[in-house]
Amino acid sequence: MNEGKLTKGQYRTLKSNLAELPELQSGAASFISPSRSGSGSPSSERSIGFNVSALDYSMGKELLGLLHKYEALIRRGRTLTPPALLKREATVEKEVAATVSFHLAHLEWTVQQDWVEEFAGLIKEVHSKGLSVTKKFIEKTRRIPCPTEACNKKLSIDIERLMENIKCLGCHGEWTVLRLIQLALTNPDKEFLLDIETICLWLGDTEKNIIKVIKANDIKKKSGLYNIKEIINARVA
Ligand SMILES: [Zn+2]
Repeated sequence: MNEGKLTKGQYRTLKSNLAELPELQSGAASFISPSRSGSGSPSSERSIGFNVSALDYSMGKELLGLLHKYEALIRRGRTLTPPALLKREATVEKEVAATVSFHLAHLEWTVQQDWVEEFAGLIKEVHSKGLSVTKKFIEKTRRIPCPTEACNKKLSIDIERLMENIKCLGCHGEWTVLRLIQLALTNPDKEFLLDIETICLWLGDTEKNIIKVIKANDIKKKSGLYNIKEIINARVA
C-alpha cells in the first residue's frame, strides 16, 4: 500500500468510499421508484411523496460532476485520452461505475498529488450524503408500531422480504411482514403511516392509482407518509 500524501487511515477511507459509490448511487434509485426496475428516469409524478434527495442522488449529477472533474485532471496529468474523446456510457449507473474504476485504477498516482486531500474530503462528503439518503429514508418510512396491545416498540419492516419473520425486541412477538401489516390494519388504536411504495405493494395497486385516491379524498400527508387505513377506507367508499 502506498498512501502517498495521505495517512494510512485516510487512504483506506478514500479507497472504500470510492468503491462504495456505485452501490450507493444505484441503491438510491430503489428509494424513489416503486417498480425497482431501475430503468427510465423518474417522472415528476413519482416524486410526489417520495424521497427527493434520493432522486437527486440517483440521478448522479453531483456525484458524476465531482468524479469527472478529477478524472479529467488525472487524464491531463498522466496524458491519457482526454474525456472529450471518450464514449459516454448508456446509463448513470454505468457512468458512475466507469469513472469509479478509473479512479481506483489510478489511486496510487492520485495520492501523490497536492490536491489529494481535498479530493478525499469531497469524496467523503458525497459518500456520506449517499449513506444518509438511503438510511434516513429507511428509518423514516419502514417502521410501524408493534401490534401487541401494551407494546410501544416500533418494528422495522423490509418490504422486499414480505414473508420473512420480524421479531419485536420489546414483547418478543414474531410475525411475517404481511401478517404484521394485517394485524396493524385491524387495530383501531394504532395509526399506521407508510410511504407510497409500501402502500402500493401492500394494496397491490399502482402508484398512479394510489395518488389519485390521495388527491380525490384529500388524504393528509404526515411527515412524508400516509395513513394506510385512510387510503383503504377511501378506496372502499
Ligand atoms: Zn412488541
